[in-house]
Amino acid sequence: MEPDDPTEHEELDDANEELEEDPPRSPWVGRGLVAGALGLWGVVAWMRVGGDARVQVRPAALVDPGDESDEAGDRGDGADVLDDGRGDGASERRDDGEPEAALGEDEAPEEAAAGGSGLDPEAAARAADSTPRDPRERLEGASWAKDFEPPTKVTYKVKRGGSMKMVANLYKIFHHEIQAWNPGVDLDVEQGPGTKFVVWQSPGDDFVSESVGYAGDGSLVGGVPMVDGPGRILKMEAWKSYATAYNVAVLDAILRQWAKRFPEDRPLLVGNMSAAKGGRLRPHSTHRSGRDVDLSYPQKIVPGEEEYNWREMSERNLDADRNWALLELLVESGELEVVLMDSKLQKILYDHAIATGRVAKGELGFWLEYPRQPGTVETIVRHHAGHVDHLHARFKCQPSESRCKSRDRD
Ligand SMILES: [Zn+2]
Repeated sequence: MEPDDPTEHEELDDANEELEEDPPRSPWVGRGLVAGALGLWGVVAWMRVGGDARVQVRPAALVDPGDESDEAGDRGDGADVLDDGRGDGASERRDDGEPEAALGEDEAPEEAAAGGSGLDPEAAARAADSTPRDPRERLEGASWAKDFEPPTKVTYKVKRGGSMKMVANLYKIFHHEIQAWNPGVDLDVEQGPGTKFVVWQSPGDDFVSESVGYAGDGSLVGGVPMVDGPGRILKMEAWKSYATAYNVAVLDAILRQWAKRFPEDRPLLVGNMSAAKGGRLRPHSTHRSGRDVDLSYPQKIVPGEEEYNWREMSERNLDADRNWALLELLVESGELEVVLMDSKLQKILYDHAIATGRVAKGELGFWLEYPRQPGTVETIVRHHAGHVDHLHARFKCQPSESRCKSRDRD
């Protein structure tokens, strides 16, 4: 999404209210000023941790007014993230020694006859193969996705320097809390560039981190801030970077896998997730229970284009092939519930699949809502207005999360 603002009007769009699991909506206008005022200039370096749910959100003074758009999130100026501040002991970047999972495209049966158009025979066969087949059957449970390990500690690295109090304010965590996690560090003293602060630490074995209620009407217990690492640029404001410990681990693994598969690509932009305790996160209608995350669409590099940022996608700049790769990766995790993506972008993916045989024709009906009417089928990817410059991924409720609710839950 463009720096100034976005587009997604979850609040105003009812096309998928059911899907979004929204409670009744109330009008809201305006956009967070204070967020900007926070001057997110730091960068964040995080470490693996496990988390504790004790991160406390401060009173609403900081809640920004803002428009209702579902802003993917932008850490603002100086969001010089990118530093894998995993800190001591956890600095493995993209080498987690896990085997690469095979992309499923080669596994598609080749039953149908090739269909002209200059495709290689395999791709042509896939393009023509209309045998109904749910891609989850071939993708879920990929080897890299076997063990998601929640962090036990998360650190933030200030790129240009700053005080610990400033970092506490970025996360909206209590000063006494950050002080306890960083003994001996003075709250007010300016620290130099590259200084790392612990911004979350697991309270122990009995720590519980869970999603409660619906994504559009729920809360988060034991929220853990997102960790930095390969494959990502954390663009959200720090206090909007929380999820359940498990979902932080899932997203971290997905992004690491992304970096591993496409080391030459630009990292994905990671936008808003949830607040530490969940609940309303303006301008979103969902993002309330630690299961949602906004991600950038893989973009083609367009000559002359400014900085890498959220951007409205079209045929011109959407990298259709990589978007399919991202969708496959999300499904491979076995933890994806749904992806929200504007219909017009789904059309680009659909046409690309048909034209290139990238995805078997028989799978398309499971993947994309397009070309059907939004809201009429339960596909992996569904339309929701406003998702032109970012996609929205929602993770499943875990079996252990007895209070987690989902309309998609079996
Ligand atoms: Zn979203």
